[in-house]
Amino acid sequence: MKNVGDMRDMKKLYRKLRQFAVLTAVVALVVVAFSLISGGNKSVRSDAESSADDLPVVILDPGHGGMDGGCVAVNGVPEKGINLTIATEVRDILSSLGYQVVMTRDRDISIHDSGVEGVGNQKKSDMDNRLAIINSYEKAVAVSIHQNQFTDPKFCGAQMFYSNSDPLSARFAQIMQEKFVTNIQPENTRETKQVGDELFLLYYSNCPMIMSECGFLSNPEESEKLQNEQYQKQVAFTIAMGIVDFINENYQA
Ligand SMILES: [Zn+2]
Repeated sequence: MKNVGDMRDMKKLYRKLRQFAVLTAVVALVVVAFSLISGGNKSVRSDAESSADDLPVVILDPGHGGMDGGCVAVNGVPEKGINLTIATEVRDILSSLGYQVVMTRDRDISIHDSGVEGVGNQKKSDMDNRLAIINSYEKAVAVSIHQNQFTDPKFCGAQMFYSNSDPLSARFAQIMQEKFVTNIQPENTRETKQVGDELFLLYYSNCPMIMSECGFLSNPEESEKLQNEQYQKQVAFTIAMGIVDFINENYQA
């Protein structure tokens, strides 16, 4: 009996040892996994922190706002709200990737100086203030976000505009134009277009800057898409990725 009892005790001991070993292994795995995760996060974060200083600030300019609605869709919706929704989405995407993002407006307002009277003067003050924001950063890239309009409703598709005020703007426009084609508008054959001082912000900005006309509100089909939340997100993602590609190509070590 004693021997049998001993055997039972031994079995119990083995079982306990086995349970202990399994428990230890699980704890060890959890510890290793946790340290890998937190260590991984740490290195990603510190990389982002160290390179964030070297990267340009991204300035997003949602066109129009307040008393200035911009162009109007076939169903009466002005572009100002569409521009703001897309720009806000671009900001959120880029911020989550670690970029410093500044918006010239984040509400439905004109940013003219208080006390300026008359729509014409307010519009001029608004543009002056947008330019002042853009040019207040030593190292920046800027995108003005607009929707297009034309008398002939058949025209559609995004088009990028730039001026030669910064030598990199043409390349920026090219990358963004291609991004639209690759991501959401495979039929788009438009080419980037250089402009003069008729596009005030592009002409006088001190940094690489483009104007993204995301599509035509005068085209019934595209107008409907541009007012669709899912499509707006796709446009925003496209713009965000265009900015990332341009920065990676021209600013990374
Ligand atoms: Zn516009």
